[in-house]
Amino acid sequence: MKFALEKYWSNQSSAQQLAATARQLRETHWRLQAAAGIDQIPSNDFSLYDHVLDTAALVGAVPARYKFNGGEVNLDTYFAMARGTASAPAMEMTKWFDTNYHYLVPEFESGMTFRVASHKPVEEFREAKASGIATRPVLLGPVSFVLLGNRGHGGSKDSDLVQAVADVYTEVLNRLKAEGAVWVQMDEPCLGLDLSPSGCDLYRSAYERLASLAGVKILLATYFSELRENLKTAQSLPVAGLHLDLVRGPGQLSHALDNAPENQLLSLGLVDGRNIWRADLDAALALARRAVDRLGPERIQIAPSCSLMHVPVDLDEEGQLDPEVRSWMAFAKQKLAEVKLLARALEEDSAEVRERLDENRRALDTRRRSPRVRDSAVRARAASTTPAMLQRAASFPERRKRQAQVISLPILPATTIGSFPQTAEVRRARAEYRAHKISASEYESFLRAEVERAIRFQEQIELDVLVHGEFERNDMVEYFGEQLNGFVFTGNGWVQSYGSRCVKPPVLFGDVSRPRAMTVDWSRYAQSLTQRPVKAMLTGPVTILEWSFVRDDLPRAETCFQIALALRDEVADLQAAGLRVIQVDEPAVREGLPLRRADQADYLRWSVNAFRLATGAAANETQIHTHMCYADFGEILWAIREMDADVISMEAARSQMELLKAFRANKYENDIGPGVYDIHSPRIPSDAEMESLLRRVLRVFRPEQVWVNPDCGLKTRKWEEVKAALPNMVGAARRLRMELAAKE
Ligand code: GLN
Ligand code: ZN
Repeated sequence: MKFALEKYWSNQSSAQQLAATARQLRETHWRLQAAAGIDQIPSNDFSLYDHVLDTAALVGAVPARYKFNGGEVNLDTYFAMARGTASAPAMEMTKWFDTNYHYLVPEFESGMTFRVASHKPVEEFREAKASGIATRPVLLGPVSFVLLGNRGHGGSKDSDLVQAVADVYTEVLNRLKAEGAVWVQMDEPCLGLDLSPSGCDLYRSAYERLASLAGVKILLATYFSELRENLKTAQSLPVAGLHLDLVRGPGQLSHALDNAPENQLLSLGLVDGRNIWRADLDAALALARRAVDRLGPERIQIAPSCSLMHVPVDLDEEGQLDPEVRSWMAFAKQKLAEVKLLARALEEDSAEVRERLDENRRALDTRRRSPRVRDSAVRARAASTTPAMLQRAASFPERRKRQAQVISLPILPATTIGSFPQTAEVRRARAEYRAHKISASEYESFLRAEVERAIRFQEQIELDVLVHGEFERNDMVEYFGEQLNGFVFTGNGWVQSYGSRCVKPPVLFGDVSRPRAMTVDWSRYAQSLTQRPVKAMLTGPVTILEWSFVRDDLPRAETCFQIALALRDEVADLQAAGLRVIQVDEPAVREGLPLRRADQADYLRWSVNAFRLATGAAANETQIHTHMCYADFGEILWAIREMDADVISMEAARSQMELLKAFRANKYENDIGPGVYDIHSPRIPSDAEMESLLRRVLRVFRPEQVWVNPDCGLKTRKWEEVKAALPNMVGAARRLRMELAAKE
């Protein structure tokens, strides 16, 4: 689908060809499920870009800038909303709950009217029916759709919006019914969030309306978290079935069974749709049996915990993967077999079922007992971690003085975030090296030349703290994972990030340790080329954790501490090699934030501790930087302060210094570099523009605290852009330095 989309977007294929690929994929996946023995096969779960965008199209929620004039939302309008056009920027994208998938944020403008503007659910239902497969169409529920949207532009109240949208849904449901649909699945993941009483009212009024007007059976699907206090609301809605995520919230089953409304069906999400491990079928069966005993088999369904879009497709494609670790894993296709096996085990006690359950038990058992999973040295070290290890020797004001003695920097020092352009040549050299077309030494001399070029450039434009450029890194997590024990890498384990973009997360399967230094040679080499300080670059423990598939047999916090200990050794080695500035990137801290407020403080506490463990060994004279690439962190400000980095750089230019709002109300004492150059765009900001952003920064922070840097790394930019923009940035810093000096 990715390649078909990209071909279509670059005018190398027609809309018909795109539609044909999409149709073929849908058919393949329906057949795959039918062959696996899945009884209720979903439809309308397929999307050309994003299912939230599909929902906006379904109800005609098209923002005015796309000049949509009624009728059906066609492909051009659809992709304009997703990707933007010369005259109308794309809709905003944001993370789908706590996944790495991004959805397009619905925009509710005042005066927007809703009506059926897409026939996708009906067409795909019909399409499956024509292939002989009766499906259960899936729709994003009206309340989650509205709550996930941007309602900031004035206009309707939430309750009016939900009512208006629910009316369109009623029509869609009735059309599906007319086509022969019996069940429709309505996804309401927002039921797993903190809801206000009015949020619960939205659910009640929307579903009462749907129940009274539409004749299909509704399966209300929740996932990604335990419903907790919202379980009551969910069970009180007039729907024919309720799906619960029993992987994230196994404890809610008892409550759900105790309060199950008469005749309501319960769908048990027992196979993890968010991770790549084989299910513990015995544990899952125990839950399922309890449910069957209470409600009877007719009222129980077995399912994955959530959509399978968050895991890779097929483990059978992983011929190159370490066979032992592979035997512990299950991708989407293998998870279908697990779902079916659970359902069969509830009904029959045949030799075949027993044999398969045995096989599952054996696989889990080898995993549990494998020496590759558990490293006693790592466990012992983690157990002997002391609070003192989370602490730099001196407090920030003292460290700051000492650092100033060994690192000479002007006021408003200028630096970058780490990477320089990953050009086609860099990527080609890496590919050739991996394919054994060039030797290790050839690859290394190529990279050395790149580093030297980057250092000379940075000296020439007079940046104050230089970087080596990260040319040797394919990806900021994979690069470290490949050098640490405890990780494996799939060949085809792709999951969608957004649109046609996919990521291939490393698989963290065992205790993490560092066999040898990972980055010291490159940083030492870069430092040997220049008198100016070079900043070494590490990816932080939370980010490595967040951007991997992690083990489900150890708490996340413990895995994170293991990574932190490995990084702690790297920090010590860098320091010993003479690096005086070390940056530990943590762009993923915010996205790991639990969905429920009640769980957030605990997460932030251990995340902060992991960062402090990684950096705590740095001498007072060593300057520790960190970097984060988002601007809305008001709620996690205390945690950022607790990380106690000497310098933090953050995204700010793209959001026009949004972050200053949070800092105005909360004092921050350590050094900080709000980004003044938006590196997400090819546009070259002028020095005047960056100067004015800096002036705004200086209204909130003392000049002694402020650093001058871009929003993020420069790897996606072209050299010509960087060569034009960075001197402007240094120029802006220089002008303000002179002005500050004149004032004194
Ligand atoms: N040091 C990394 C880089 O510059 C940081 C990337 C990130 O924040 N995502 O590329
Ligand atoms: Zn960044």
